[in-house]
Amino acid sequence: MKRCAPFALTLAACLLAASPLFAAEAKKVRWNLATTWNSTLTPLSTPPAKVAQMVSDMTGGNFVIKVEGAEKHKAPLEILDMVKGGQYEMGHTASYYWKGKDATTALFTTVPFGMTASEQGAWLYYGGGMELMQKCYDKFEVYSLPGGNTGVQMGGWFRKEIKSLDDLKGLKMRIPSVAGEVFAKLGVNVTNIAPGELYTALDRGAIDALEWVGPGMDIKMGFHKIAPYYYAGWHEPASDMQFLISKKAFEALPPEYQAILKSAIKTASADMYFDNFAQNAQAWAAMKTEYPNVKVMTFPEPVLAAMKKATDEVLGDYAAKDPLFKEVLDSQRNFMRTAREWTRMSEQYYLQESEKVNK
Ligand code: CA
Repeated sequence: MKRCAPFALTLAACLLAASPLFAAEAKKVRWNLATTWNSTLTPLSTPPAKVAQMVSDMTGGNFVIKVEGAEKHKAPLEILDMVKGGQYEMGHTASYYWKGKDATTALFTTVPFGMTASEQGAWLYYGGGMELMQKCYDKFEVYSLPGGNTGVQMGGWFRKEIKSLDDLKGLKMRIPSVAGEVFAKLGVNVTNIAPGELYTALDRGAIDALEWVGPGMDIKMGFHKIAPYYYAGWHEPASDMQFLISKKAFEALPPEYQAILKSAIKTASADMYFDNFAQNAQAWAAMKTEYPNVKVMTFPEPVLAAMKKATDEVLGDYAAKDPLFKEVLDSQRNFMRTAREWTRMSEQYYLQESEKVNK
């Protein structure tokens, strides 16, 4: 036994030394990450910054990710191409910006009249959503992971009140993805504009209306000064941001770094939802006292009904043409059917009943 103890110690020391994290010559990795957002555009720009910090902290500074905002690389809507092409190992963006390349990508951000953040997160992590997202992104040779959810977005800022469908006809509006196609069907002149150019476009009259995110982010942009009618949401009930990772770069990482990166991404993504919720709640309260000119509105029911009908048509047309789009849409609809029953019984019923006494 006396001879075993030193041997056991030596073995333990050898195993420790063999672990890349503890070895003196731990692998040094330097990555670059490009974002769709300017680096000051919190909370959308927060998850990549937090991932970079966590990854560095957890590897003792050996795995460093340099985050580059859109103000530097000047290509906010080309992140997928830049990660696929190898200029950046990672990106932080939103999947629906790639709808022009592959319509199915739009479904992994949000769907008009679709799931809430809780429902969508449950679908992604525990309802087969992540697997379907990867099936869609395999052709681009990248991994795609959820990158933070905004929760329900507001329906946007309008110069004039929308009293009927006639008021939408000829309106020039920035609204991306499926919702943009829905509005186009209803006669809106739709455009997508990079986040950094929104205020200027509205101010100069290039657009009459726009949607961005919610009060926390919108108020800072100043849209209320130009377009005071602020409508409740229908089009982005739970927009997920997206981390893109080059498959080639990820596979070259030591397994420990891969695990650390995935863990940091999940933590930072969950964090963004709470961060944005807090900012929305605070801005909403402040808006009522500081910006009394803002007119909070809901779309008239006939307008909402027309939006829903057009949404079903747009989604149906894509599903008829594209088997993967149909597979993802069916998966989401099946999951939502079950999840929504629980949402009604839990959050909706709780709010309805508790608000009667929570005065
Ligand atoms: Ca939006």
